[in-house]
Amino acid sequence: MATSLLELFLTRARQAPGRPVLDFERQRFSAGQLAGQVTAFASALQRRGLTSGERVALFLENSPAFVIAYLGTQYAGGVVVLVNTQYRQVELGHILSDAGARVCVTGAAGAAELAPLKAQLPALEWLVTETPPDGPPDAPLPWPAVDFDALLAEGDAHASLPLPRGEQLAVLGYTSGTTGRSKGAMLLHRNLLANVRAVTEAWRWTENDRLLLTLPLFHTHGLMVGLHGTLYSGGSVDLRRRFAAPEVLSALQEDASLTLFFGVPTMYGRLVEEARRTGLRPRPLRLLVSGSAPLSPQLFRDVEETFGQRILERYGMTETLMNTTNPYEGERRPGTVGMPYPGQEARVVDVRTRQPLPDGETGEIEVRGPHVFAGYWQRPDATAESFDAEGWFRTGDLGLRDGDGYFHITGRARELIISGGFNVYPREVEEVLATHPGVAEVAVLGLPDPDFGEQVVAVIVPRAPAPAAQALADFCKDRLASFKKPRRVEFVDALPRNALGKVQKHLLRERLQTNVA
Ligand code: ATP
Ligand code: MG
Repeated sequence: MATSLLELFLTRARQAPGRPVLDFERQRFSAGQLAGQVTAFASALQRRGLTSGERVALFLENSPAFVIAYLGTQYAGGVVVLVNTQYRQVELGHILSDAGARVCVTGAAGAAELAPLKAQLPALEWLVTETPPDGPPDAPLPWPAVDFDALLAEGDAHASLPLPRGEQLAVLGYTSGTTGRSKGAMLLHRNLLANVRAVTEAWRWTENDRLLLTLPLFHTHGLMVGLHGTLYSGGSVDLRRRFAAPEVLSALQEDASLTLFFGVPTMYGRLVEEARRTGLRPRPLRLLVSGSAPLSPQLFRDVEETFGQRILERYGMTETLMNTTNPYEGERRPGTVGMPYPGQEARVVDVRTRQPLPDGETGEIEVRGPHVFAGYWQRPDATAESFDAEGWFRTGDLGLRDGDGYFHITGRARELIISGGFNVYPREVEEVLATHPGVAEVAVLGLPDPDFGEQVVAVIVPRAPAPAAQALADFCKDRLASFKKPRRVEFVDALPRNALGKVQKHLLRERLQTNVA
């Protein structure tokens, strides 16, 4: 039996080399072609001295080069470091130095962004640069660089290299940095394989499926669900450089071979808007999936109306890949993330006592199973804090399991506000405030308070005519217990969000605390 997804892909490519696997813009790769380039990339890395366990960072937009470098690094025995393409100096410096990347694969613009970090990155020795689409670099780079195609030409497309073992490190996945500095999650080959097996089984993913993939490959959702599922099932993927609602709608209209689409809630919001604006009605697919952030029941219904089908919401994270899913057959319940995937476990525990809670009670979600990562890279403290003696991983997410076994996510443990001894779940207060006509966007958080321990603070992006702070506090008081109403209301032009559209509350907290000081 295969010990890695890579092995499975290479074996299948040998058996059916002509099968189409990847389309990108006007390029089409059969499984055999892709496997040949992956092998050439791996053999070139080894010839240039990359040894097992060394880190290769990918700071690249979606492209075939990403896929080749991703699988090729693994085939060379290396560890892929995933880097968000929106990251700039500060984040890049943190991730590349933390990971101790020896090689970085990037475009010309990416290389220029890295250049000033030379002194901070002593481990980084050379770059692989993909020249198009942003043109050759303007200034000389402080590292030797080899062109992507030239590197492929150095390698042997028919080499037979040792395959990675299941226990070997495959990827350092950096978390999105929603609650603090992003941490490197150590994902082993066996974690990747176990999770993709569970996901494809749950969603009945087969070689007849074709996925339209516009999510970024540097993140779990696009890579470990979208690409991995395609490679595991033997289906194919129509990969796009990025998401654009009009393009997606026209692809869904025109390409009858597409069966799957995955997105984050913001993408579905734009698709619904675009479909309403143009009057286009997308053809129904076999499966639409949402994840990475909460999908509101309203958007669930809007999608159902626009696409004529019920979206499937699932819950995952960098450290564990996919945790729970609504059922493929059976009821897909709005506002819930469904049940654990086959072969995986999830439960809800009391935040203080860590004892399992009965159904219906809110606590922290914990997960266990073969999909759970091996720990945080060079962070034994953070790793120890995240696991208990029985191997349960603390997700940091708050939620409950309802009487029918569906999990609901209600917020993040780190964001739970304890005010005067009462628990206040920011999500609950946010949902109430969001229904006020003067509120365009809202984030609720706790700030230190001498009397109450913490006080509830609401940060509002107003919609004209802007409401008064007191009116908003009263609005909450009419609808929620008094201890949940915001004691302080701040108005801002926009909320800080990361690349996946998640509100970065730690940044808001820092800003509000400096205002006070
Ligand atoms: P960091 O760990 O650095 O603070 P992050 O947790 O946002 O960042 P990711 O690993 O990209 O980084 O995101 C995983 C988180 O996304 C989950 O822990 C959960 O909070 C949220 N999430 C994922 N899917 C869903 C979903 N369907 N509904 C609600 N939240 C979700
Ligand atoms: Mg996290």
